[in-house]
Amino acid sequence: MNYGLVIHGGAGTILQSKLSTELEQEYHSLLGAILQEGHTSLSKSKSALDVVKQAVRRMEDSPLFNAGKGAVFTHEKKNEMDATIIDGSTGGCGAVAMVTNIRNPISLARAVMERTSHILLGGEGAKKFAEEIGHTIEQDDYFYTDRRWLQLQAALENENGTAILDHNGKHGTVGAVALDMNGHLAAATSSGGMTNKRYNRIGDSSLIGCGTYANTSCAVSTTGIGEEFMRNVSAYDLSALMMYKNMSLQESADEVVRKLGNGKENIGGLIAIDDNGNIAMPFNTTGMYRGYYISNKQPAVLIYKD
Ligand code: ASP
Repeated sequence: MNYGLVIHGGAGTILQSKLSTELEQEYHSLLGAILQEGHTSLSKSKSALDVVKQAVRRMEDSPLFNAGKGAVFTHEKKNEMDATIIDGSTGGCGAVAMVTNIRNPISLARAVMERTSHILLGGEGAKKFAEEIGHTIEQDDYFYTDRRWLQLQAALENENGTAILDHNGKHGTVGAVALDMNGHLAAATSSGGMTNKRYNRIGDSSLIGCGTYANTSCAVSTTGIGEEFMRNVSAYDLSALMMYKNMSLQESADEVVRKLGNGKENIGGLIAIDDNGNIAMPFNTTGMYRGYYISNKQPAVLIYKD
């Protein structure tokens, strides 16, 4: 029985010429360590659900990614985060949208799944729920990072009213998909959304079926311009192509990415795993932080296209 996990740390204009060797090394070692930990947990019979949550938490705690601590700033200079977790074996799911001051939004999403009769909680209500269950709340300064602040300033200077996807391409939304020893699948995604977003914009990372999906045959997490994944219901679409058209995981994943923006490039990518341990990681940007550790394959961490 194969088991393993795939993770991503966001897609975007990630060019080798723009990424310093030190920073590249930081991404490699953190993603590598997370894959190693996740694989060890799976080898000790931990569930896919626990493993995707833990992998996403580790990335949320790092300033390198646009999630949790490293979340981007909104137009109003706040950090509003989205997250979703799905247990493919039970259909259980939980999500939070535009939450502020929440440490590890993915854990709050899991609490929504396990401790409420709801699926998606938003904004102040989600924060109230977090307080009631004793979830860790952080002050605003916990989420301050120079890089994100400078990104917002650059976006405001070019102000044309649009939100941007990590224009420097150095950071991104995070996600994990896993298959455990019992053949169960799970998916999790967490994001700060788009720099300079306004009006409590909510992204695909909090919407089941758009940015995240899992059932008994596949698990999917996406990254990129959320509006495109929402328009196409991308994560669910991947599973539907497998289910109704009998396409393979790779074919379905490629088709979903091809449809983004009606065939435009530079929209984003996704990671996916099926119940046999096959994986797919297509994207149409110049790079996507990604890696896998599957029992029958050499583990790898990759950033650029080839
Ligand atoms: N998909 C995220 C959003 O639109 C952004 C990202 O993946 O970087 O909110």
